Amino acid sequence: MKSSVLLLATAALAFVAPATAQTAAARVDTVDASLPTQLPRTAIPHHYALNVTPHAERLTFDGTAAIDLEIIKPTRELTLNAADLTFSSARLIPANGAAMTGTTAISADTETATFTFPRVLPVGKYRLELAYSGKINTQANGLFALDYKNKEGKDARAIYTQFEAADARRFMPSWDEPDYKATFDLTVRVPAAQMAVSNMPAASSRNIAGGLKEVRFQTTPTMSSYLLFLGAGDFDRVTKQAAGREVGIVMTRGNGAKAQWALDAEAQILPFYNDYFGTPFPLPKLDNVAGPGQSQFFGAMENWGAIFTFESVLLDDPAITSEAQRHGIFSTEAHEMAHQWFGDLVTMAWWDDLWLNEGFASWMENKTTRHFHPDWGADIDRVGSREEAMGLDALNSTHPVVQEVRTVEQANQAFDTIAYQKGESVISMLESFATPDVWRTGIQRYVAKHAYQNTRTGDLWSAVEGAGARGLTAIATDFTTQPGIPLITVGASQCVGGNTVATLIQGQFSADRRAETAARPLSWRVPVRATAGGGERQIVTAGPASQLSVPGCGPLLVNAGQYGYFRTLYTPQQNGALVAVMPRLSGVDQYGLFANGMALSLAGYQPMGAGLDLLNAVPANANAKVAQRALGEWGDLYDLLDGDAKAQAALAARIEAAYGPRLTQLGFTPRQGEPSIDALLRPSLIGALGKYQDPRVQAEAARLFAAWQTDPNAIPGSLKSTWLGVIARNADAATWEALHQKAKGTPGIVERTSLYQLLGRAQDEALARRALDLAMTAEPGKTISAGIITSVAAAHPRLAVDFVLGHLTQVNQLIDISGRSRFMQRLVQSSHDPAFIPILENYTTANLKPTDRKPIQQVIDRLRSESTQLPRVRTETTQWLQAHGSAGGGSERG
Ligand SMILES: [Zn+2]
Repeated sequence: MKSSVLLLATAALAFVAPATAQTAAARVDTVDASLPTQLPRTAIPHHYALNVTPHAERLTFDGTAAIDLEIIKPTRELTLNAADLTFSSARLIPANGAAMTGTTAISADTETATFTFPRVLPVGKYRLELAYSGKINTQANGLFALDYKNKEGKDARAIYTQFEAADARRFMPSWDEPDYKATFDLTVRVPAAQMAVSNMPAASSRNIAGGLKEVRFQTTPTMSSYLLFLGAGDFDRVTKQAAGREVGIVMTRGNGAKAQWALDAEAQILPFYNDYFGTPFPLPKLDNVAGPGQSQFFGAMENWGAIFTFESVLLDDPAITSEAQRHGIFSTEAHEMAHQWFGDLVTMAWWDDLWLNEGFASWMENKTTRHFHPDWGADIDRVGSREEAMGLDALNSTHPVVQEVRTVEQANQAFDTIAYQKGESVISMLESFATPDVWRTGIQRYVAKHAYQNTRTGDLWSAVEGAGARGLTAIATDFTTQPGIPLITVGASQCVGGNTVATLIQGQFSADRRAETAARPLSWRVPVRATAGGGERQIVTAGPASQLSVPGCGPLLVNAGQYGYFRTLYTPQQNGALVAVMPRLSGVDQYGLFANGMALSLAGYQPMGAGLDLLNAVPANANAKVAQRALGEWGDLYDLLDGDAKAQAALAARIEAAYGPRLTQLGFTPRQGEPSIDALLRPSLIGALGKYQDPRVQAEAARLFAAWQTDPNAIPGSLKSTWLGVIARNADAATWEALHQKAKGTPGIVERTSLYQLLGRAQDEALARRALDLAMTAEPGKTISAGIITSVAAAHPRLAVDFVLGHLTQVNQLIDISGRSRFMQRLVQSSHDPAFIPILENYTTANLKPTDRKPIQQVIDRLRSESTQLPRVRTETTQWLQAHGSAGGGSERG
């Protein structure tokens, strides 16, 4: 491997001009007056020339902006977005006329700056020239700094930008809404020895006074403001050629070797996407820039031509990177690269349709992973996304995929499970309905038709239906404009003339309003694919009852292949037949069936035994990813039994008996050449069995920890955080302090972050308190502290929440502005304690505007529904455990 240290991205390729160099007149036509906006629709920007000088050591920057714009309605004022910016001058120059000076009024509330001029400005072309200064933040909003130790162990600082959803306004005065697409010329002055990276390659670079250099980047294509990027620091860049473009990974100096896995993936994915989308990647180069730090809310951002990704999600370090993280590097790149078309080239007109970006990229990420790594079990993850989405979508406080966004905070909150995982699941279902070929033709037409423009959800449906997917728009509209989950109740099935025949009754599944949704269900047109003893049939339900007739007679499996976004309630006989054939089903159906069964049991649609029988029927030798999911399901149930030590012990014994042998078979140590998903399952088994106090796992953890004290290579890198996790969980004061000293002495930001977060894992409450106190000090580092608090919340949610409420102002400084309102939701994520309900209610009333309370309301709804179900869940689970003994893997496992 060779690390080519380039000060500049000097791609030899000519810049590919946008398909339509949009004229001012054309832009006027494309501004949709019906879109929500926080800006008066009096002017439209076409081009920004930005000139920025960061003062990284002082955490400030100076800038000038020259904006070519068009006034479309006579006005005396121009209002742009601006946040935390101070203006020193404002000048407006008409296309034909003398320059005039404006007065500036700032509104922190609406995040705008209004420039008022001496006379009414007629319709026409102008240039607005502004001089301003702003702040460099210490969390990932606007222009921000990340501090780290460089190769020589010295303190270093690099700067980056993060603009989505509404933080470009912290860097440049701008029409900071996705529909105001424009071109950008960025010029930046940085220390001469540093590398500066932006969306486009540099057009020129020259040394200037004061040890600085001035780098001017090539003009970007027409794009939304949230996609502009700047990074500068003591960087290395490694590159490859792929499909006639230069792909690169940029990272802090000396880390090039860790970038090879990501670089290879990038080079592999680019031609695949050129082919899939039918429109070649339009920029001359594509970088992925690794940042030394983390955010509580995102791992990577799809800036056009210059993706930003935190190091732990992009670099592969044999000393610390787990197999799951290696998979994550590939899939994260696949996700961000899909956005280069879906999001960057074609952009949603407004945040209401954010899912067009995120649902699509999530779906494409999974599709691409399955294509290049069919042995990774990504088809199981596809079903995992559906289950994750349904967890939220079953609550009263869910929302439709296409949702109303009216405030900046709502835009930030829109990046949720519904936009990502439900979006992905609905697309999977629609692709399956349309067939992959027709779907792809539709996507290619959509991209070609709307390149460099903005769209709404309906534009996608028109393109795919136009490509031949008749009936798709109706189904798609049902699933994206209504919240919630269809429930298909299967009537008794019969074998009639070689066909399995049953009536499907359609209703709505709900975790917290079962009676209400049963009385007044929403209605969907649902594509249902079913199998029975070999034959297969797909129907689309219409109205409350549909007849299903599947060729062949055998156990009826509804939602075969698990593409459908609905729950299926079987009769006890049908459920029993599926339990019996479970070992012979595909991994996807095994997982889909037990997850569906457990969700119905937990919500009270059927006894716990119906779901547990399915979960228990997962064969001991199941696909590693299915085994991992089953282990997770058992683990969730274990947590639900919190407070009932006897039931938990019985359940733990059962899990041990079922999965202990699998760990014995895999061994504690990675084996050369073993299948990748075995390497994935091992840490899950160690982590889970460690949690249930398996003596073998405890002993091995203790042995490795002792050895690691003197030999940093004593624990295999890919299992380091797993083994140390077992140790940290059970730590006493001496062990905790030993871990603390290791964290303190570790310079590498990824490993350092991991070790500090482990300090928050201690079961011992006094140690958890020490971790919280430590998070409030400067010692861990600015982007690590919030992670320690989150870590404490996993075992001690009440402790973490009380602590945060007592230190709210300080804690907010540790979190990205865009993620603050969701931090509390994250802390209570793993709790089942209804005592949180009044605490959360008080917190929202005191701290959140009524428009911004949805994420907390979702937690409250979940806790409420659990508290009504919990007594039944516990009783029935205990009875089931007694009836089945504690031995897993027994005769009922088939
Ligand atoms: Zn995304």
